[in-house]
Amino acid sequence: MGQIQILDEHIANQIAAGEVVERPSSVVKELVENAIDAGARRIDVTVEEGGLSLIRITDNGSGIEPEDCETAFYRHATSKLSLGRDLFQIRTLGFRGEALPSIAAVSKVELVSSNGDHGLGRRIIIEGGSLKENEDTPTPLGTDISVKELFYNTPARLKYMKTIQTELGHISDVMYRQALAHPEIAFTLRHNGNQLLQSPGNGDLLQVIASIYGTQAAKGMLGIEAENADYKVEGFVGRPDLTRSNRGAISTMVNGRYIRNPGLQAAMMRAYHTLLPINRYPIAVLQLHMHPSLVDVNVHPSKLEVRFSKEQELYAFLEESIRAVLSQQVLIPHVVKQT
Ligand code: ADP
Ligand code: MG
Repeated sequence: MGQIQILDEHIANQIAAGEVVERPSSVVKELVENAIDAGARRIDVTVEEGGLSLIRITDNGSGIEPEDCETAFYRHATSKLSLGRDLFQIRTLGFRGEALPSIAAVSKVELVSSNGDHGLGRRIIIEGGSLKENEDTPTPLGTDISVKELFYNTPARLKYMKTIQTELGHISDVMYRQALAHPEIAFTLRHNGNQLLQSPGNGDLLQVIASIYGTQAAKGMLGIEAENADYKVEGFVGRPDLTRSNRGAISTMVNGRYIRNPGLQAAMMRAYHTLLPINRYPIAVLQLHMHPSLVDVNVHPSKLEVRFSKEQELYAFLEESIRAVLSQQVLIPHVVKQT
């Protein structure tokens, strides 16, 4: 008999979890993305102890059919990529069918979901990848998922978690970006009973910016809207006198997905050019829209990185669009207290 064996599903999920679930904020990101894909207009997130003891996400999206609830935790199980729709035309945030099985492999998950049929839903409990309960339960439309004791069965990973404050910082960051990417959704974030974010969900991006960076910052934002044959950009860029000491307040979204892309940031910085003091960075929220075939999101399991098929054209378009907005402003230098 040969030496090579196919890994069993349990081990395969634990390996995938190593990539998909790096820390509590990765769980928040994946579950919030699922709620967005389900068309939720309200997403409430509650975390305890930096997300290590509890992450609970409630949404009013389309819910999961009772008979699909267990299947959703299988590896590569997804409702988002069906035959006929290919990998290069992705319009949803998820598509790999990896998040739920990966999260459930390294925590204790309780899922309650209903797709609204007769007010009946399903309740599932999975611990360390093993199904413990699967029963009908009356519940309203939507999904309520709790992830408890993250990494309880992977002590090596648990050991690498930072302080509660650091983990919470990453979670807040994920929530801010999602709220900025989706002003039409009302988000809340609570940690140990304290409310850290409440976005109005009325579609007004400037109000989301105000709820995250403060009303003063929101007042210093310049609206941007431009498009050419391939690309469209909308959002806000900060006046050059409203700066930060790091790039943390620069957010770039592509087709509703928050992404990190040094090329886009560099294009933006070129547009500001000498308007910014050295080592200072603007506040900016840029929502880019393009045909899904112009961007490959299947580069990394976390989907934070993407590849653009015509990146130089995109960077030039962005730089030009931002420069046009900045140059329309009569910039009267005045001293503003830096935050
Ligand atoms: P993916 O998002 O890549 O499809 P996931 O493992 O994150 O994979 O989720 C598996 C499936 O479970 C999804 O395709 C979706 O059908 C369903 N699902 C997960 N979370 C929700 C939710 N909050 N609302 C509705 N359906 C959900
Ligand atoms: Mg998903």
